[in-house]
Amino acid sequence: MTQLIHQLAHWRDIRQQWQDSSQRIAFVPTMGNLHEGHFSLVKLAQQHADKVVVSIFVNPLQFGPNEDFDRYPRTLNTDVEALSQLGVDVVFAPDVDEVYPDMTSDISGGEGFLVLPPPKLTNILCGESRPGHFTGVATIVLKLFNMIQPQLTVFGEKDYQQLAIIKAMVSALNLPIKVISAPTCRAADGLALSSRNQYLSLTQRQQASAIYKTLQTIAFGLRQGQSSDVLIEQARHELIYQGFDGVDYVSVRHPDSLAVQNFLGNDGAVILIAARLGTTRLIDNLVVMAEA
Ligand code: AMP
Repeated sequence: MTQLIHQLAHWRDIRQQWQDSSQRIAFVPTMGNLHEGHFSLVKLAQQHADKVVVSIFVNPLQFGPNEDFDRYPRTLNTDVEALSQLGVDVVFAPDVDEVYPDMTSDISGGEGFLVLPPPKLTNILCGESRPGHFTGVATIVLKLFNMIQPQLTVFGEKDYQQLAIIKAMVSALNLPIKVISAPTCRAADGLALSSRNQYLSLTQRQQASAIYKTLQTIAFGLRQGQSSDVLIEQARHELIYQGFDGVDYVSVRHPDSLAVQNFLGNDGAVILIAARLGTTRLIDNLVVMAEA
């Protein structure tokens, strides 16, 4: 039976019982409106732990003033139903007041404490068009880690920069938590599943698959030994040609450090894209392995 918990005190009682019986806890943080991508994280978590906790919390701190916080889809009942079908033990869905009693829920930080990841990870890629976003992400994830106190956590590669920042935070702050990453779940045409896909019109939904095709084209070019500069320029044009209204970035980076990379190096590379269809901003990425 899945337990839906809103209060931290209630969760702590359950956690104490689990701790007393040496249960290994895996934690999957989400903003809800769950899809197969989220479910794949849950299934991975179940393989590695005795108990699985999924949080559902639309975190105001990680949304900019003109972003989609208000219209972000909230579907708690169906989410809990789906998670109980999967056999999740606890769904933790705290109220904003419980998470931010010190009024940090504004992206400016208000009067509360914030977690500031290193600028070299936050001033790039999505951090450039979403100032403060990763501070909001790091702050909520550390708070949730402290509340749930899991032994391991699962994050999706879909949000590659976020995953890199969480791994860096866990290492830098000596958190006793193992971070597991899960591959990106895609629709049949390659579009990465995302709660934001439902903002797309039918036409935009068709155009959206160009992101994955572009990632594959760049990956092919890199494997042929081409330089990323040329491939990126071509990709930007292709996305606009396919109907995108703007391209925030197309970038080729080192898979761990996220440093800019001109060619496919020994460690491989990750290609990342953020592009807009109307007001909907989509992100995706593809890891390219070094040639054997
Ligand atoms: P969100 O609810 O969008 O904050 O996402 C919660 C978690 O699910 C994050 O770790 C995401 O990276 C992951 N996730 C979202 N979409 C996908 C997907 N298509 N495939 C795999 N993981 C995903």
